[in-house]
Amino acid sequence: MTLYCIDNDFQYELEGLLRLFMPDEKIIVLKDVCQEPNAPYAIARYDKKNCRVFATLNKDGCERELTKTLNNNDGESDAERKLAGALFLLLCEEFSFRPKWGILTGVRPGKLINSLRKSLGEKAAEDYLTNELLVSPEKTRLAFEVARTQERILASSCRESFSLYISIPFCPSRCTYCSFVSHSISSPAIIKSIPEYVDLMCREIALTGKAARENKLRLESIYWGGGTPTVLEPLLLRKVFEAISQSFDLSTLRELTVEAGRPDTITKEKLLVLNEYGVSRLSINPQSFNDDVLKAIGRHHTSSQTVLAYKLAREAGFNNINADLIAALPGQTHESFEKSVKAAVDMGFDSITIHTLAKKRSSALGTETALFAEKTVLTAKMLKTAETLLRKASYRPYYLYRQSKASGNYENVGWAKEEKECLYNIFMMEECHSVLAVGAGAVTKLKDPSSGYIERVNNFKYPYEYISRFDEILMRKNRISEFYGTYFIKGEN
Ligand code: SF4
Repeated sequence: MTLYCIDNDFQYELEGLLRLFMPDEKIIVLKDVCQEPNAPYAIARYDKKNCRVFATLNKDGCERELTKTLNNNDGESDAERKLAGALFLLLCEEFSFRPKWGILTGVRPGKLINSLRKSLGEKAAEDYLTNELLVSPEKTRLAFEVARTQERILASSCRESFSLYISIPFCPSRCTYCSFVSHSISSPAIIKSIPEYVDLMCREIALTGKAARENKLRLESIYWGGGTPTVLEPLLLRKVFEAISQSFDLSTLRELTVEAGRPDTITKEKLLVLNEYGVSRLSINPQSFNDDVLKAIGRHHTSSQTVLAYKLAREAGFNNINADLIAALPGQTHESFEKSVKAAVDMGFDSITIHTLAKKRSSALGTETALFAEKTVLTAKMLKTAETLLRKASYRPYYLYRQSKASGNYENVGWAKEEKECLYNIFMMEECHSVLAVGAGAVTKLKDPSSGYIERVNNFKYPYEYISRFDEILMRKNRISEFYGTYFIKGEN
């Protein structure tokens, strides 16, 4: 399809909208109309002088147009929103499908919602979402419920706070939908490289801790992710914990999460180490309780291993355990998804995160069409079922984000019982403070609390680069103090 953007620069937004309905179609963006006969097209025209926008769509030889009038004081962003809204309505009609998130783009709806709540107030902000951004009433309610829960948690975080992210980019096998930089430990070369990786990462932790102390930062949460951190043997887990406790002041720490994502990596011995070093939240991720589905997505564990790992963790004294589940997995039926949610609820997980499958280019599943009408309907049904079961069992939504290429353009939602919300998930998703990150693939985000400005410092993606170019990683850590020297408060509160 060709998208003609006439007298406007809104192509980024509008192209994204077309992709929502046609994820696999090649979209060419042009500034002048020079149509080929019979080729499908969309035209987005902004008539600034007469305060009007025009959206035109021609998919199968039938041209339709929608016009909107702007108010006198409307600016470029209002024109863009109204043009996107008009094009969205034409696309909904053409495809007989209305995405629930309307024209709201971006992975973090919470940030926009919080700023709307501040500037417009609760009711007007809700109306803006449904009337202007065309978000469905149910998703609007969900997003605002999340925002209200987060407000309470974010209010308890101070200006100097930060989180620490530890990246362990290794897994027992690679899930077919995985788009992370994680390496399967089925390769002997990878297994061999892990001790050296851990040694170097401990040096990076020491340098990061020094920067945090020099800048008087307060560590509020630690999150071990990756990857599957519990692939590390007890000795290596201990080494990393020791490096953390020697490098950081842990007296202000409120939460320490370790992703024990694969149940088949969890042993009694490892749990003892995690307990000894104060891990307060564990994430054991079944993804599904259907063994055929697990096999189809490349996970080499069974649902009974999840049950066993969960029991071991409870016996070891963990009182905050999360489960991740995914909707719309290959081979998954509504019934098998419902059974998985019921199983997680019945087992008594403290929080359950419901993801919607996203088919990324870098995953083995590839990007095959995410938006077949029946798939979209099925995903919606699964999410509704999950919500009903979770609400009935007293879980409440506390964080929400969206991924591109998610089935039906749906969302991922963290549901938690009271006081069991993951602080790190909220801090990271709302970008409320700096995240100092170590390890391969880790991205440090430095935030100036006064202006909101965020600077990213990337580590090398792959463990082999991380190891071979480690000196460069250490050099990049200097940026933490430079940043705080330029922007920060230094004792101000
Ligand atoms: S467990 Fe997570 S990081 Fe590891 S392969 Fe699967 S999706 Fe990727």
